[in-house]
Amino acid sequence: MTVGSDAQLMIGAQLRGELVDSENPAFDAQRRIWNGSVDKHPALIIRCAGVADVMAAVKFARVTGLPVAVRSGGHSFSGLSVADNAVVIDLSLMKGVSIDPGTRIARVQAGVLLGELDRETQAFGLAVPSGIVSHTGVAGLTLGGGIGWIMRKHGLSVDQLISVDLVTAEGEFVRASAGENAELFWGVRGGGGNFGIVTEFAFRCVALGTQVLGGPLIWPMQQSAEVLRFYRDWIAEAPDDLMTLVIHRKAPDLPFIPEDLRGQPVVIVVCCWVGDIDEGETVIRPLREFGHPVVDHCQPTSYLAHQALFDPSFPHGRWYYYKSCDVAELTDEIIDITAEHSVQFASPLTSFPIWQRGGAVSRIGEDATAFTGRHAGFTFNIGACTAGREGFDAERAWVRDFWSALEPWHQGVYVNFLADEGADRVVQAYGTAKWARLQSLKRTWDPDNFFRLNQNIAPN
Ligand SMILES: Cc1cc2nc3c(=O)[nH]c(=O)nc-3n(C[C@H](O)[C@H](O)[C@H](O)COP(=O)(O)OP(=O)(O)OC[C@H]3O[C@@H](n4cnc5c(N)ncnc54)[C@H](O)[C@@H]3O)c2cc1C
Repeated sequence: MTVGSDAQLMIGAQLRGELVDSENPAFDAQRRIWNGSVDKHPALIIRCAGVADVMAAVKFARVTGLPVAVRSGGHSFSGLSVADNAVVIDLSLMKGVSIDPGTRIARVQAGVLLGELDRETQAFGLAVPSGIVSHTGVAGLTLGGGIGWIMRKHGLSVDQLISVDLVTAEGEFVRASAGENAELFWGVRGGGGNFGIVTEFAFRCVALGTQVLGGPLIWPMQQSAEVLRFYRDWIAEAPDDLMTLVIHRKAPDLPFIPEDLRGQPVVIVVCCWVGDIDEGETVIRPLREFGHPVVDHCQPTSYLAHQALFDPSFPHGRWYYYKSCDVAELTDEIIDITAEHSVQFASPLTSFPIWQRGGAVSRIGEDATAFTGRHAGFTFNIGACTAGREGFDAERAWVRDFWSALEPWHQGVYVNFLADEGADRVVQAYGTAKWARLQSLKRTWDPDNFFRLNQNIAPN
């Protein structure tokens, strides 16, 4: 289906941004998102330059009756930010960021990526908690919650959110904060893009400084079960200044990896210590001394470099597939299943993180925000990656098998790590009590389910 040319002319004339349809030479590049396995052909892409464009785009899309996809950073795992025959409302041109170092408030437009936000906040030694790959969008990440390197000390992205500017399903502008549309503000802190299009976020920045103690320690994957058992005991009492990820993969081709190790299966513990560096060295020492790591690249580094550490491992255009679950603790059974499945994937590009949770995130009430899962112990984000179609199906089957083997211990799932897994999984992500509150909010702000290409909270 195409949008009528008159309608297209009408919206095109109103825009400060850009209209991209299939006739436009830029269409092929613009319809692509981060996950190369997503290959959709929308009817039209409306690249908004500001709030007025977003309001016009929503009103236009209502008239066409076509489904609407919303794109900011384009990192939806399952590709929800583009769809066949849809109108894509694309915010990626909206790059404004301003930091007030006096009030420590960051105002961030929806098209800003994590690395762009970090660049501005770090000029003042400040930070907004966000995620671990710098080309992810602030918008989608924040609307789902936002977990990352400094969350155990400073909470989720939503825990530092002060307000959002939002365009409703009717194309109207509203602001939501603790004092204004408070229930909507509760909902956007975890409820995703269900209630409207956020055009701008205001965050409190935290005083972080510009240095962290961080980086990977690496052991051969044959030692996975021992490393995981030691790791579990070592981090049991870890201070909030420490956040870790455990990664199983084949060693990447990076300068700090010895040549003979590249391509070999390894288990990696990546640390990020945000407190006093000497104190961090003392806390991390037992891990360094465990079982002779083949690489120790954990060192004082800039926060900006640490935030971009994983960028080379997750470039745009590769084929990715993820399934995720939270677990309460790393039991012996979970460790043994992890060790067993980790030696079974084939792709040299596959790498999957186990996230340490807890800390500041868990000290905020479960009902304080729509984000659910504050008491998770660990998050498994089992992911497969291939260069293209070749080998993808086998790798995806590996993800599903591994995820199913962990099923007896599943505790919940972080909504931003959901793939296209059906309506029941979205309910599971929020739990039934919160679901009723979210549905009620959806009925208030989007009774027709205009915003439904998302992890959908259907109004009824
Ligand atoms: C490489 C990679 C690393 C990641 N790392 C982390 C991490 O460290 N921590 C973490 O918490 N998550 C992480 N994620 C998951 C990430 O939070 C989600 O994929 C998120 O949706 C990405 O946001 P985006 O704006 O880039 O994506 P998009 O694909 O643009 O948007 C995803 C969805 O969010 C909604 N949305 C986007 N923008 C808006 C808006 N302005 N208004 C309303 N709704 C909107 C829409 O429903 C859209 O379908 C990662 C994902 C990837 C691919």
